[in-house]
Amino acid sequence: MSESRIGLLAFQGDYEAHGKALARAGVASSRIVEVRRLPELESVDALIIPGGESTVMGMLLERFGILEVLKARIEAGMPLLATCAGLILIAKHIEGSSQTKLGVLDITVRRNAYGRQVDSFRAPVQTRIPEIGTIEGIFIRAPKIVALGPGVEPLATCKGETVMVRKGAIIAATFHPELLKDAPVHRWFASLI
Ligand code: GLN
Repeated sequence: MSESRIGLLAFQGDYEAHGKALARAGVASSRIVEVRRLPELESVDALIIPGGESTVMGMLLERFGILEVLKARIEAGMPLLATCAGLILIAKHIEGSSQTKLGVLDITVRRNAYGRQVDSFRAPVQTRIPEIGTIEGIFIRAPKIVALGPGVEPLATCKGETVMVRKGAIIAATFHPELLKDAPVHRWFASLI
């Protein structure tokens, strides 16, 4: 759908970088919508949940009254790209945390799982997606996916860890593809909508 609109959940975090990545991927700016309120959420056909702070984003989703609607839209099949804190927010299980979440993807995540010494690093990510191939993964206080529920497909690995997964229209990565010079993940995501 060339006229489909892609939302950026814009409470917090690096949603602007995702907007720029979509532009680099050839998505017209008229199709990119910042989402904070219900009418904006209702106006989009797909959504990106950025990195940032998952606890703050969860709290704001609740405060702005769109948590349940967003959850329902994702469950109804709206294409979604969630990165880093976004992946944490959509995970069904977050180790040792009772933070507010969407909980729509059956994975278990461990927050800040790479430890303080190496809490930010770059490393090659091997994807199974021919259009993407191997890319540089930028990991910033990244979570780890420690378990995948039934039907959750691993899409990419780095250092022996699964760092990107898919279930239906939900795509989630522990790293930051929006910070790459090119935007292969965004181009691929846009092609699926
Ligand atoms: N540690 C952050 C969280 O738990 C995620 C880090 C990020 O998005 N860069 O929300």
